[in-house]
Amino acid sequence: MASDTITEQGRHTPIVDRSDVVVVGGGPAGISAAISAARNGATVTLLERYPYLGGLASGGMVLILDDMHNDTEITVTGLCAEMIDRMKSMDLCVTPDEPDRMPDRRDLPEMWRKYARWGLFDFHTQKMPHPICYAAAFDPDGYKRAAYAMTGDARVKLRLHSWFADTIVDDGAIRGVICQTKQGRQAIMGDVVIDTTGDLDVAASAGAAFQEASFILTTVSRWGGVDTDKAEEFQFGEPETFNKLDHEAKRIIGGSWAYWWLKTPLPGVVWLNCPHMPKLNGLHVADLTAAELEGRARIDRLLDFARQNMPGFENAYIVDFAPQTGVRTTRLLEGEYVVTKEDVMQRRYFEDTVCRGRDYYTPYRALLPREVDQLLVAGRHYSATPQAQKTSREIPPCMAQGEAVGIAAALALDAGTSVRQVDHTAIQRRMRAQGADPGDRPSANASFPEAAE
Ligand SMILES: Cc1cc2nc3c(=O)[nH]c(=O)nc-3n(C[C@H](O)[C@H](O)[C@H](O)COP(=O)(O)OP(=O)(O)OC[C@H]3O[C@@H](n4cnc5c(N)ncnc54)[C@H](O)[C@@H]3O)c2cc1C
Repeated sequence: MASDTITEQGRHTPIVDRSDVVVVGGGPAGISAAISAARNGATVTLLERYPYLGGLASGGMVLILDDMHNDTEITVTGLCAEMIDRMKSMDLCVTPDEPDRMPDRRDLPEMWRKYARWGLFDFHTQKMPHPICYAAAFDPDGYKRAAYAMTGDARVKLRLHSWFADTIVDDGAIRGVICQTKQGRQAIMGDVVIDTTGDLDVAASAGAAFQEASFILTTVSRWGGVDTDKAEEFQFGEPETFNKLDHEAKRIIGGSWAYWWLKTPLPGVVWLNCPHMPKLNGLHVADLTAAELEGRARIDRLLDFARQNMPGFENAYIVDFAPQTGVRTTRLLEGEYVVTKEDVMQRRYFEDTVCRGRDYYTPYRALLPREVDQLLVAGRHYSATPQAQKTSREIPPCMAQGEAVGIAAALALDAGTSVRQVDHTAIQRRMRAQGADPGDRPSANASFPEAAE
């Protein structure tokens, strides 16, 4: 019965590691935070519950880096750009050719045909077909490999298989965390802790204010054996027949974006960013279990339909389902500043902007909990309203936030101050010095009230 409880005995927990900075959660934001803090001179331990780095970008098989352009300007650079370069060097990442995303070409029908099934277009505009923009389609293992190389080069101490369980808070400041592992509970101490769990596990446990929100859940899958050339020829050559079949496919899925399959750098392998499953809570065991079963059942039915009816899919098979459930939104920090939908849509520029997404700016205060000292957050649980988070939580902006808080942690340690007292202009300067765009120089279209209309 839900109301029954038991009392657990007090425990003695071994301290297994100490670092200047402890980063909890090895997804896009956590990888960046750890590398950034380490490159700025801090000793860093990175904790991750699963046996791999990458979070939703690898385990969730979310395979497009987007939300990093403002017209033709690339707004998320730094570690995200480095990650793209590394994956490209392994032939595991595809971006549009530069001339193809320029104003004289990006709206041409042949550009749409060339890039639409890669998902490399600006889905925020109403314009159809969507203009081509800077984005990157990548392979999930490529993301892992690049993450291991970059954290390794930065001498980040990695502890996988470590599930965050509790915080150690003393006199209003966080001093470390406790993880559940196969060896039992283990304590890891740090002068600064960065919460990059995506679900705000650490900050919530430490007593920081937050709100809960939910959005659709998705069990992402990959299919192999797809003749993508044939499928595209059918789509563009016989649009009416294609539309009827595509409509039926979407009915079977029961909720998807306009393009339910997209190409990956592996020939014949596509990824499916569907189905959409609303009204489920990404923190609840029962809902997460139901999503896994329901998502698989829908995709099985879709595969049967596609094999029998859709040109190019005759020999398709399921390669895998993402090991990490596609959870977009759970807890959101209520930090020193809560970013609103209007801030994002109006591209509001803040004096203490330390990183950027597409065309919007993120203030340092949105990465700072109010109630707990020496704690920073970065990633999809940052301090924003649910409506704001919905359009500002893609992988590149999460990486940019991680890069900024990694710097902030190192600066606080160097100066012997609290993270709350770090001068945002120092973070901005350090971001620029390491090739990242802190958003300290607002673009011409910044702070544009009518943009929210
Ligand atoms: C289905 C789906 C499709 C999406 N499509 C796109 C897209 O096309 N392009 C795009 O850019 N973005 C997309 N997004 C959004 C994007 O994937 C996420 O917002 C982004 O990955 C968030 O990064 P993060 O580091 O904040 O969190 P996450 O990627 O969730 O990483 C959090 C990490 O923390 C770890 N962790 C969590 N709890 C604990 C714990 N208690 N102890 C230890 N470790 C823990 C997790 O295992 C994970 O590694 C999509 C999201 C979903 C779900």
